[in-house]
Amino acid sequence: MTIGIGLVGLGKIARDQHLPTIARTEGARLVAVATRNGEAEGVPTYRDLGAMLAAEPGVDAVVMCQPPQVRFEAARTAIEAGKHVFLEKPPGATLSEVEALIGLAKARGVTLFASWHSREAGGVAPARGWLARAELHKVAIAWKEDVRVWHPGQTWIWEPGGFGVFDPGINALSILTAILPGTVRLTAATLETPSNRQAPIAAQLTMQTAAGIPIAAEFDFRQTGPQSWDIRVETAQGELLLSHGGEALEIAGQTQQLAGGGEYAGLYRRFVELVRSGASDVELAPLRLVADAFLCGKRVEVAAFEE
Ligand code: NAP
Repeated sequence: MTIGIGLVGLGKIARDQHLPTIARTEGARLVAVATRNGEAEGVPTYRDLGAMLAAEPGVDAVVMCQPPQVRFEAARTAIEAGKHVFLEKPPGATLSEVEALIGLAKARGVTLFASWHSREAGGVAPARGWLARAELHKVAIAWKEDVRVWHPGQTWIWEPGGFGVFDPGINALSILTAILPGTVRLTAATLETPSNRQAPIAAQLTMQTAAGIPIAAEFDFRQTGPQSWDIRVETAQGELLLSHGGEALEIAGQTQQLAGGGEYAGLYRRFVELVRSGASDVELAPLRLVADAFLCGKRVEVAAFEE
C-alpha cells in the first residue's frame, strides 16, 4: 500500500528535504499540502489542515513541518481524523504535549513518529557501535552556526517555545543520546538570551553519562566564518570525532568511510516501516535535556539581537 501524505507548513525544511525525499520514497506519495502562504507544485494546496483533510480522503498520513509552537493542535487534529503523523524535530514545544500525542495516537491506533534527522547522518550508527566497546573519558560538543545564514526571517525561533539556539542544539543532543549508552543527565546550564528576545542565542550545558563521564556542550548562534557541528569523544582507545553534523567520522585520526543514503531518506524509510507495521516511535531524550536546561539554566542577558 502506498501511503498518501499531506504536508503541513511549506517552509525551508519542507522544500529543501521533505518534498524531494517523498518524491523518491518507495511506498509514499505526496497528495496535498496545507500552508497559509505559498503554493505547492503538482498537488493541491489548502490554507489549513482542516480544509485539506476534508477535501482529500487520500491523505493517510500528515507530516508536520511547521514551527513547534503550533505543532500540537495540528497533530491532535490529524490523529483524531485517524491519520498517521510524522513530526519534524523537535516533536513539540513541551514534553507534556508530546506525551499527550502518544496517548492519543495509541487510542486511535495510528502511527506517531517523532523524527530526529541528525540521528540518520552517516557517522552516527558507526560511532555508536565503536563507542559501545570503548572506555570513555569525556565528551565535548561544539554546535555553532550563523543564525542569519541558516534561519533568515524565522521570527518564531526567538519566541517562547521556539527554542532559540536549541533549535539546532537539539540535533547535537539527539546524536549524543543515540551514541552514548544509558541516560544522559544535565547538571548545569547557562542560557545567554538577547535583551530583546525570549529565547537564547547561546548556551553552555554540563551533562554526565550514567557512568559519570563528563559532557560539555557549547551552542552558539553568533558564529560567523567556519561553522561547527562537532562531537568529540575522548576514550582510552583514542579520540572519536563526529563532524559536519554527524556526516563525517574520524576515529583515532583515521577518516572512516561512511554509507551516505541521506538523513531524510532514512527518516521516510522508517516512517513507511512504522505505518506498515502499525508501530510508533517517539523518543524524548533530546527534548528532555532541552527542557532540563530551561528548568535549571542560569539566565544571562546579552546584547540585543537584530537580524
Ligand atoms: P520555516 O522556514 O519558518 O517554515 C515553517 C513553515 O511553517 C512556514 O513557512 C509557515 O508556512 C508554516 N507555519 C505555520 N504556522 C506558523 C507560525 N505560527 N509561524 C511561522 N510559520 C508557520 O521553518 P523551517 O526551517 O522549515 O523549520 C520548521 C521545523 O523544521 C522546525 O521545527 C525546525 O526545527 C525543523 N527543521 C528545520 C531545518 C532547517 O534546516 N531549516 C532542518 C531540520 C528540521 P505558512 O506561512 O505558509 O503557513
